[in-house]
Amino acid sequence: MTLKASALVFLWMASVSAQVVLTRGVYSDPKPLWAAGARLDELHVNAVFVSGGSINQALMDRAKAEGAKVFAEFPTLNGKGYVETHPEAWPINEKGEPAPAASWFMGVCPTDPAFRQFRVKQLEELLGRFEVAGVWLDYFHWHAQFEEPQPILPETCFNHSCLRAFQKASGIQLPNLQPAEAARYILSKHEKAWREWRVQVLEGWAVELRKIVKRIRPDAQLGLYHCAWTDDEFSGARVRILGLDLQRLNRSFDVFSPMVYHRRMGRSPQWVGEYVRWLSARVGAFKVWPIVQASGDPNQISAAEFETVMRLGVIPGTGTLAATGGIMMFTTRAIADDPAKAERLRRLYQEWSPEGQPRVKDPKPIR
Ligand SMILES: [Zn+2]
Repeated sequence: MTLKASALVFLWMASVSAQVVLTRGVYSDPKPLWAAGARLDELHVNAVFVSGGSINQALMDRAKAEGAKVFAEFPTLNGKGYVETHPEAWPINEKGEPAPAASWFMGVCPTDPAFRQFRVKQLEELLGRFEVAGVWLDYFHWHAQFEEPQPILPETCFNHSCLRAFQKASGIQLPNLQPAEAARYILSKHEKAWREWRVQVLEGWAVELRKIVKRIRPDAQLGLYHCAWTDDEFSGARVRILGLDLQRLNRSFDVFSPMVYHRRMGRSPQWVGEYVRWLSARVGAFKVWPIVQASGDPNQISAAEFETVMRLGVIPGTGTLAATGGIMMFTTRAIADDPAKAERLRRLYQEWSPEGQPRVKDPKPIR
């Protein structure tokens, strides 16, 4: 091998050991970290994902001063605080009754026009006030609960708003609009069209919210906190009940953040890597920025386990700069409360930052 070829081998070796993660995020208000005396730049954190309602100018300023972008979490179809005072937007189940809360989550009727206006206005105000780097839609699904080992998967929504919209979109004439009877008729005779329409309703939301984001903040990204199920799990419930079709959503979202909460969902740490690979194969690895679980009882997720799921959440990039899109963890509080986790985070993010790449010291040529 010539000297020149040897040098090339070195460059290649150095590049394969490198791993850059472009967006090194934390999820939730950074206040607990700041209260613990930490700085985002010292942790090599360059992105904070904060509930839109918690963003204020002081947070924007401090994050910027510490080199971090601010992304807004936007609780799209979370009905809590709205449906109680707007009963017409409460999702109706197949019995024709208001669907009970799904453990701690309460959804909303996604076709209720007033609710849609309410959320659209909220998004416009948020984007108008703050120079956020992106908006991450949260609770973006029909009423259900997927963040638990045994999910709650109700059939909704059969209120008049949805029944009318379904008739109009599908061309199917329902014999009557009584929710319970209509639900029986739809689920026995037109289930396929119904599920398809439910997917379209969410797609419609995604398209509209994307337009708003791009109109007000053209450089901002649109992301999705996404249910980490494959197509087959729970008899296809991701599409069937939640109404989430990846292929359709892939057109509207710049980034998918699967909520790979392994403990909360009763899975193994290895599952984090399996799911991230599964999703990457469908929407593109660069678009997958998982949110892994750091919080839980102090004994539940150790610092070592936290590092394991962080590493499993990053799919190695390709090319000389092996860049991966991003990652974050749930939550800043879990990091701030546990110095061992904070130190693991700091080292990992240093390793994954462009300036933290390994240097080849005293290279010995291969002959
Ligand atoms: Zn409805």
